[in-house]
Amino acid sequence: MSTEVGTTNWQSYARCWQSIRGTGLSVTSAWDALKGHQEQRALFERSVQRGRLSHAYVLAGSDGIGKRKFARLLAQSMFCRERKPDEIDACGECRACRSFIAGTWPDYIEIGLPAGKSVIPIELIAGDSDKRGREGLCFELSMSPQASDRRVAIINDAHRMNAEGANSLLKTLEEPPSQALILLVCDNPDSLLPTIRSRCQVVRFFPLTETDVKDILIAEEMVESPEEAATIAAMAEGSITLAAQLLNPDLRQLRQLISQQLDQLENMKPVEVSKQVTDELERISSGADEQRRNGQWLLRFVAEVLNGRLRRLTSGDFSDPLLKRFGVRNGVDMLAPLLDRVISAAHQIEGNSPVRLVLEAMFDDIARQLRLGPISAR
Ligand SMILES: [Zn+2]
Repeated sequence: MSTEVGTTNWQSYARCWQSIRGTGLSVTSAWDALKGHQEQRALFERSVQRGRLSHAYVLAGSDGIGKRKFARLLAQSMFCRERKPDEIDACGECRACRSFIAGTWPDYIEIGLPAGKSVIPIELIAGDSDKRGREGLCFELSMSPQASDRRVAIINDAHRMNAEGANSLLKTLEEPPSQALILLVCDNPDSLLPTIRSRCQVVRFFPLTETDVKDILIAEEMVESPEEAATIAAMAEGSITLAAQLLNPDLRQLRQLISQQLDQLENMKPVEVSKQVTDELERISSGADEQRRNGQWLLRFVAEVLNGRLRRLTSGDFSDPLLKRFGVRNGVDMLAPLLDRVISAAHQIEGNSPVRLVLEAMFDDIARQLRLGPISAR
C-alpha cells in the first residue's frame, strides 16, 4: 500500500539521516536522528527485553514533536538485521534498513490522512467496496510477513478515522495477527473510540525542549542563522509544526508589525493599533479558520512583547519608561494582568468570537490599564 501522507517529513528524515552519515561522524544508530523522547524509547526497549511488546500502541502528544518519526524508527528497529535481540536499535545500513528508508520494505504499512481530506478513507483501512476485507491495512497485517518475522503498521492522524474505519480496525485489534505491531499516532488519545483505546497501550509524548527545536531547525536548514533558530524556538512551544508556521513570511511580517506598534507601549493608540494589525491579519488569511489561527499567533506576538517588557523591568533596566514611572513592583503588577488579558482573548478566538472585535477590546483594555497604572498604585 502506498500513500502520499507524510512523504515530505519522511524524505526529510531520510535526508537528515544521509547528511549525518555524510559528515563521516561515527553514527551508531538511526535513533541519533531523533531529538528527545528517550524515556519513551527506554519504555519500548524494556518491553522488548522482557518479551512483552504489545500488539498495539497509541503514541499520543501534541502536533510536531516527533511522534511519527519515533514510530518509524521503532518500525525500522523491528526489521533491522543487525539489531541485538534485547535492544531497540537500527543500524541504518543493513538491507532491511536501506529498504525501509527507501520505502520499499514489504512488511511495513503506513497510512494517514491524505492531503485535503478530513477523514482517513475506509479504503486505506479495509479496502475498496468491491474488495472490502481483501485489501487495505487490516488485510495486509493479516498476511504472513514476506521478508521478516513480523508486520508493522503505522496509522498517522489516527483520531481522523471515522466510525466505519475504526470498527474495521477494531476487529484486527481484537484478534491481532501474531507478531503484528500496530502504532496509532495521534494528538489526543481521548479523541479515539474508547473501544480502540482500551485495546492499545497508550504512550504519552511531550513537547521538545527549546534546544532540541533549535537544533532541528538548524539541522534541517529551516532557518538562515542560529540566531533566527533561537528566536523561533523560543516561541514554538516545543513543536516543529509551530516553528514552521512561524517561519511563514506573512507571520514574520505580522510579528514585526506588532513589535513596531507596541514598541512605545505606554503611548499606544488602541484604535489605530487594532485597525492596523487586524487589517494585516485579514490580508494574510484566506478564510475564517486561517484568520483565527493567525489571530492566535498575533496574540502570541503581543505576549512576547509584554514578556520582553517584564524581563526588562525585573532586570532593573532603568532605561525602561515603565520602570521610571512605576518602579519594579508596580510595573510588574501592571504588566502581569495584561498577559492574562491576552490569554482571555485567545480563549475568545478559540470559542469562535469575531477576531476583529476580540482584538479591538483587548487593545482597548491594555491601553486603559497602562493609562491608569497598577491597581495597587491607584
Ligand atoms: Zn539495520
